[in-house]
Amino acid sequence: MCGIVGAVSQRNVVPILIEGLSRLEYRGYDSAGVAVINGGIKRVRAVGRVADMRGKAAAEGLQGLIGIGHTRWATHGGVTETNAHPHISHDTIAVVHNGIIENYAEQRRRLEALGYIFESQTDTEVIAHLVHHHYSECGDLFAATRYTVAELVGAFAIGVVALDAPGVMTCARVGCPLLIGLGEGENFIASDVSAVLSSTRRVIYLEEGDVAEITRDCVTIVDATGN
Ligand code: GLU
Repeated sequence: MCGIVGAVSQRNVVPILIEGLSRLEYRGYDSAGVAVINGGIKRVRAVGRVADMRGKAAAEGLQGLIGIGHTRWATHGGVTETNAHPHISHDTIAVVHNGIIENYAEQRRRLEALGYIFESQTDTEVIAHLVHHHYSECGDLFAATRYTVAELVGAFAIGVVALDAPGVMTCARVGCPLLIGLGEGENFIASDVSAVLSSTRRVIYLEEGDVAEITRDCVTIVDATGN
């Protein structure tokens, strides 16, 4: 289990995400990636160091006002760029995930029967497709994230963004740490407080089962009982 970062801001979040990931490097990892929304979902991933990924992001001129990032410690599927996070469904939903989805094989069979094509060997990719499946039915990223979490078994922290909702990020904590950092006109998520400390010292630690929706100026948290 390694690192998650996310940011929604009025400034380019790519430096924030990469700085956050570099603060999580001490935890160990095998690959890294970021995805931002900027006319489409733009993603950069690399096996190896965050610095390698930073170089690719710079070469591609990656920027955006909302995005998520990840350092991976592979549990399901080898250490390859294709298995690195973020994982994307239908070019519209991007997901980062720490932990393990225990019922991923069952969910993968169900999603394949619904027509979803899998690109990776990870357990994580089922989350991207499940959010996409629910989002296409309800049109609400927060609700789609809650429906998805209710169907997952395992220990996980996730961060999600959607092309059609470019001001909204969602996240959930079940068995893996996750927190929200509160900034001025910008907000963050991270698996470890060290990833947000250069931007803010105001932090909400999510509790077990919490699902949250985060915009630039608002944070909404629904707990495990739906309150
Ligand atoms: N189980 C996921 C994978 O293998 C996430 C591992 C992690 O926490 O980095 O990709």
